[in-house]
Amino acid sequence: MCGIFGIENHPDAAHLTYLSLFALQHRGQESAGIASVLNGQINSHTGMGITSDVFSDKRIEKLCGTSAIGHVRYSTTGSSHIKNAQPLVSKTRHGALALGHNGNLTNASEIRKNLETKGAIFHSSTDSEAILHLLAHSTGDFDEALPEALKKVEGAYSLVILTGDQMIACRDPHGFRPLVLGKLGNSYVVSSETTALSLVKASYIREIDPGEILFIRQGNLKSVKIPTRPISARCVFELVYFARPDSVVFGKGVQAVRQALGRALAREMKEVKADLVMAVPDSGAPAALGFSRESEIPFEVGLVRSHYISRTFIRPSQALREIAVDLKLSPVSEALKGKRVVLIDDSIVRGTTSRKIARSLREAGAREIHMGITSPPIVSACYYGIDTPKSEALIANQRKLEEIRDFVGVDSLHYLSLEAMLEAAGGSGFCDACFTKNYPTKTPAEVSISQKVGL
Ligand code: AMP
Repeated sequence: MCGIFGIENHPDAAHLTYLSLFALQHRGQESAGIASVLNGQINSHTGMGITSDVFSDKRIEKLCGTSAIGHVRYSTTGSSHIKNAQPLVSKTRHGALALGHNGNLTNASEIRKNLETKGAIFHSSTDSEAILHLLAHSTGDFDEALPEALKKVEGAYSLVILTGDQMIACRDPHGFRPLVLGKLGNSYVVSSETTALSLVKASYIREIDPGEILFIRQGNLKSVKIPTRPISARCVFELVYFARPDSVVFGKGVQAVRQALGRALAREMKEVKADLVMAVPDSGAPAALGFSRESEIPFEVGLVRSHYISRTFIRPSQALREIAVDLKLSPVSEALKGKRVVLIDDSIVRGTTSRKIARSLREAGAREIHMGITSPPIVSACYYGIDTPKSEALIANQRKLEEIRDFVGVDSLHYLSLEAMLEAAGGSGFCDACFTKNYPTKTPAEVSISQKVGL
C-alpha cells in the first residue's frame, strides 16, 4: 500500500508535501520521496525508511519550486529497494516527469514484456514504471497521451504526476484506491486521504472520480475522463482497516464506519456474555467503542500500544514479525484479571498476531476471550494494492472457523457477515474480492493466460 500527495502553485510546495507524508505514513513505511519542479526541471529525493529518516531540512530546501508531489511506499509489487522508491522520475519526449502511484496494476508484466521486446529498458521492478513507458511510447501531446496510455493499463491506480508545467491527479475507472482534491488559497492539493489536507490546512473539495484525470496548471483545473467505462469497485478494506479514522474516504467518515461495523458486530454476537469490550489498538478502537455502545458492555483499554515501533506487518520475515508483536502491544493486567473479555480487531490474516495477543491476554489474567472481527474471513489475495498474502498463507483459506478459533486460542470467534460489513461501509460499489473471490477485473494470472492464448 502507498500514500500519495501533491500540491500545485504554492511557494512552500516541498515543505507542505514533506509534512503531508507524516499524515500518510500509516499507508507505507518502506520508503519516502518528494519531487518538485522549478523552471521545467524536476528535482527529487527518495530514501528507504519513514519520512523522518529520509528528509532533513537541508534536503527539503533543495527541493525548490512551486509544485511538488510526495509518496510513501509499502511494496506490493517490486521489492523493498531504493530503486523502487517513488516518485519515479524519468525523461520522456514530454520532458521530465515524476510519478507517484498507489495501487497495483494487474497487467503490468504483460505491458512490460511487450515494451521490452520493443527495446524499452526498465529501471525498477515496480508496476508503476509501466505507466511511464506507455507515456513515453504514446503519440500526441501530453494531455492526449495520458488518457491513451491509461486506457492500456488495468487494475488499481491512484496517481500523481508532475511535469515541467503542470500536476496531474487521476484514479482508475474502478476507483479502487482513494484520492481527494482540496484547496489551500490559490493552490490545489491532492491526497490519498483527507487527514493530510487537514494537516496542511487545505479544505476538502471532493473525491477525484473513478476514471477521472485532473490536469492542474497554475491554479486551474481541467477534468478529462479515461476512455473506458467507470465501474465502481472501491476497496472496502480501506474503510475497515487501512485508512486513518480521522479521514473521509470514499465520501465516508472512517471513524463513523468503524463504529457502525462494531455496532453491527455486537448485534451478531448478542449471545456473548462479557465484563468488558476492548480493542486491538489502534485500528480496532472505534469498532470496539461501537460494540460497547450497542451491547452496553463497558469499553476498557486492555492493551497498550507502543508508538515507537512501526507496524508489525512491515517486518518482512515471520520471526521478526512475531517479536515485533511483543514489543508493540502490552496487556493491562489490572483491567483484565479474572475478566470475560470481548476482543475486537478488524481482520485476521495469517492468525499469528491474534494468537500472540490472545496468549498475552490470558497470561495477564483474562478468564474468557471472545474475539470479534469487523470483517468476514479473508480467503483470497488482493491484486489491487493491499499486501494480503497468497491464499496458502491466509488462515481462513486453510482452516475452518473452529480450527481458527483453536489456533488463535480464544473461547469463541465471530467474523462480521459480508452483508453487515457492506451495509456499515455504505452499501454497494465496493471491491470485496479478498473476502469473496469476486474480482472486479481479470487477475494477473488470467491476464497472462489470455495473452498466451491470444484472447
Ligand atoms: P494476524 O493475526 O497475523 O492475521 O494479523 C492480523 C492483524 O494484522 C490485524 O490486527 C490487522 O489489523 C492487521 N492487518 C491486516 N491486514 C494488514 C495489512 N495488509 N497490512 C498490515 N497489517 C494488516
